Amino acid sequence: MARTAAKAGIGRAPHGKVGHGKVGKVNDDGRRGPRGKAEGTARVTLIAGDGVGPEVIGAAVKVIEAVGVKIDWDRQLAGAIALRRFGSPVPDQLIDSLKSTKVALKGPLETRVGEGYRSINVYLRKLFDLYANVRPVRTQAGVHTPFKGVDIIVIRENTEDLYAGIEHQVAPGVVESVKIITARASTRIARFAFEYARTNHRHLVTAIHKANIMKLSDGLFLKCAQRVARDYRDIEYKEQIVDAACMRLVTNPHAFDVLLLENLYGDIVSDLCAGLVGGLGFVPGANYGKHGAIFETVHGTAPDIAGKGIANPVAAIKTGALLLDYLGYGSAGDRIRAAVNAVLRAGRVITPDIDGKATTADMTAAVIRALK
Ligand code: NAD
Repeated sequence: MARTAAKAGIGRAPHGKVGHGKVGKVNDDGRRGPRGKAEGTARVTLIAGDGVGPEVIGAAVKVIEAVGVKIDWDRQLAGAIALRRFGSPVPDQLIDSLKSTKVALKGPLETRVGEGYRSINVYLRKLFDLYANVRPVRTQAGVHTPFKGVDIIVIRENTEDLYAGIEHQVAPGVVESVKIITARASTRIARFAFEYARTNHRHLVTAIHKANIMKLSDGLFLKCAQRVARDYRDIEYKEQIVDAACMRLVTNPHAFDVLLLENLYGDIVSDLCAGLVGGLGFVPGANYGKHGAIFETVHGTAPDIAGKGIANPVAAIKTGALLLDYLGYGSAGDRIRAAVNAVLRAGRVITPDIDGKATTADMTAAVIRALK
């Protein structure tokens, strides 16, 4: 991808060639349309991940195979399993693979609370400067939720904020975490959000902040967003304080369209938005940079259900569809989304998170049948 990874046309053809053609119209997932035209077999790094990762990533791979797109998967280990096998949670061969393929489908990786190595997810996003995290949140027909017609795109800055991981003990019993906000990163994520909005015929970008308290850091983020907004007079721009925005999201989600957030607020608000459409099992995601992308669900390793074969594979399958869009196989991505929608609408083969009895494997098989 060139320029604002966004020039809304994120996409590249296989063979490492970056395509940044004009983006097609928005599909029913709120994604940008197909970009580069795919030729040949794409090489993609595949990281199954921890917990439910192998179950749901396995489902996504099966569905991609069933839709007829040939991908040369370069399977790599990361996280706890890599640490055990190679002595590092981010082994050299993983980094080499990502440098070569520049694109990955990745399962969630565990990050211990209050101890252990730092988040591999955050590390990879920063290492490859995948600065824009995009999460389309949309009501699914057949999934019962308090609101109908939710259609929100969460765009989260991925490289700084409190996620910079700069923490130290000032004195026993006193610690500091440093929140880094720069004009450069704030401006490029704002431009990404507006480009996304324009390309996908979205009408409103809402910047979410806490600049009433963090006047310097969130104040800078807002100033950058305001400056960028002036270049996009065709798109309405609003601002909202994060706590009030959360209240509004759960009372009137239709008041939002594209959300523009710093890293931490983006993380929290993503899960809140997932709750509006049936839970974490439904929301796909992508991390885009200038030179590559990693596709991963919003959800984590789901340790409470890992190994039981009951994880909802929809988020991962839809993440796989976003990968296909990126690789230039937009119509295959559309077929996958249509098949997922058909299975959910029928409501017969669904996982326990939405009150069904099906296993991950059953639901994956139902999606594959619906492709045909
Ligand atoms: P989580 O997303 O793993 O789970 C939260 C809840 O949602 C759980 O009840 C879980 O069962 C449910 N859930 C999640 N995915 C589901 C699915 N596909 N189907 C059905 N139910 C699903 O969040 P957590 O428990 O806070 O985190 C667990 C671990 O995952 C932590 O180590 C965290 O750091 C990691 N994590 C990783 C990523 C990533 O790799 N990108 C993202 C988020 C969390």
